[in-house]
Amino acid sequence: MKDVVVVGGGLAGLAAGWRLRHWDTVLLESGSRVGGRIRSERRGRYWLNWGGHVFAGPGSSTDALLTEAGIAAAQVPGALAALSMNGKLLLKGPIPTYPFRIPMSTPSRIALVKAGVKVGAAVLRYARIVRQRSGEDPAVRQQRVYDFENGRSFRDFVGDLPEDAKALFYPTVTRSAADAHEISAGAGIGYFSLVFNIGQGLSRGIVGGPSTLTQGIATALGDRVQLGADAVEIVHTTRSVVVRYRQDGLDKEVEARYVVLATPATVSHKVAVDLPADVRDALGNVLYGPYVSAAFLTGESSPQPWDGAYGIATPKRSFNIVLNQASIIRGGETTRQPGGSIMTFSPAGLARTLLPKSDEEILRIYTDDLGEVLGSGFGATVVEAQVQRWDTGAPYCFPGRAALQPTLTRRGSRVILAGDYLGTLYTETAISTGFSAAQEAASLLATERQQRTGRGLPLAAG
Ligand SMILES: Cc1cc2nc3c(=O)[nH]c(=O)nc-3n(C[C@H](O)[C@H](O)[C@H](O)COP(=O)(O)OP(=O)(O)OC[C@H]3O[C@@H](n4cnc5c(N)ncnc54)[C@H](O)[C@@H]3O)c2cc1C
Repeated sequence: MKDVVVVGGGLAGLAAGWRLRHWDTVLLESGSRVGGRIRSERRGRYWLNWGGHVFAGPGSSTDALLTEAGIAAAQVPGALAALSMNGKLLLKGPIPTYPFRIPMSTPSRIALVKAGVKVGAAVLRYARIVRQRSGEDPAVRQQRVYDFENGRSFRDFVGDLPEDAKALFYPTVTRSAADAHEISAGAGIGYFSLVFNIGQGLSRGIVGGPSTLTQGIATALGDRVQLGADAVEIVHTTRSVVVRYRQDGLDKEVEARYVVLATPATVSHKVAVDLPADVRDALGNVLYGPYVSAAFLTGESSPQPWDGAYGIATPKRSFNIVLNQASIIRGGETTRQPGGSIMTFSPAGLARTLLPKSDEEILRIYTDDLGEVLGSGFGATVVEAQVQRWDTGAPYCFPGRAALQPTLTRRGSRVILAGDYLGTLYTETAISTGFSAAQEAASLLATERQQRTGRGLPLAAG
């Protein structure tokens, strides 16, 4: 019998597997690669990227994992929030000035300023909510973040806006994978807080691309990582848990004292058949929105106007943002080297429009739009391009989501949950919940071991 089976080889499962590497463990991953919603591939000095791209900084669980695994990360150089709208590309300057620098009608501008003031005031309230209080359990803080303005949608909070105002205002929140009427007001305000406090949130890049981290951990774990192992059912026995899975066309099973279940909530709900009914219901009620993303390797030979930008918000386009994946490379260059790497992504409604289309069609739409944003010569510089569809792109905080949190985080089963859906910070939540699941499993194993050897019962024995 194994000490722990980790199910799911995304960041949450890998973080748990890493911290449990001195125990007898196996990690089952259904896909042909680890990483889940982290996916990048190297191309010479650049890398293509389709998934998570910016990460938490010093003091975070992400930072701890990167340091322990010996993977380099750097603050993303360049503007994190440039904007292309109505024919104008703004690459510099404070975000609150954008409404005055983009061509739009006066009523739109007035509505935008009013909405900006309302959200700005709410961001100040949010800043007080989100701050970790001295000696406070992080779970208490997380619940407070979920509770904040969780009774209505962001659209209801902001009210009706004219087209241009909506176009400029909403992409910040739809990046969550939910449209403004789906996401809670509090979560939408949280997104604005990330944008207004540029550099404070998720703003580090992984040198060599994000998969450097996930593949690096998988390599360190060696044959404890099983690919193509699709968990279908997880059931408790009296003193263990059995994971049934399919691999290479065969039905297999593995027994363990504990399971760290690090699959998306939609999968966990399905496979963990004997979890308490309220936990399964809560897992079934977690909502995800879709993303479509694409990576473009380019071969330009001269400096480009956007070289100094990392993220360019692109309202009214088929994608929501353009991400200059070569930004970290540019930061270390003395002279501009040829080539580049661009990522686009389309969340929520934009993704739902693209998902029925073929990859070729999506690439044609993206390339045309990139020509409008980055200059008409863009298409001619593309050397390679590839689309990725993410049906469960990201879990989002909808009105009422806060009520699920106590049930989802209740402990007591031999199946310990981990994954980004347990919090509001994406990769950072995935890693921190992977760490705490590992810690819980390790401490329960240590207790059991002490009890078996009798060393844990000195008082009872005395
Ligand atoms: C386009 C895009 C951009 C993003 N940008 C950012 C960003 O910039 N910053 C950020 O912090 N986050 C970002 N995210 C979100 C981030 O990628 C995720 O929050 C994080 O990677 C989730 O990790 P996870 O381990 O919880 O889940 P996953 O990565 O989904 O891992 C779950 C794993 O379980 C496996 N699995 C599923 N079913 C089974 C089964 N039955 N048996 C075995 N294995 C199974 C899956 O194959 C997968 O590998 C982005 C996501 C996308 C898609």
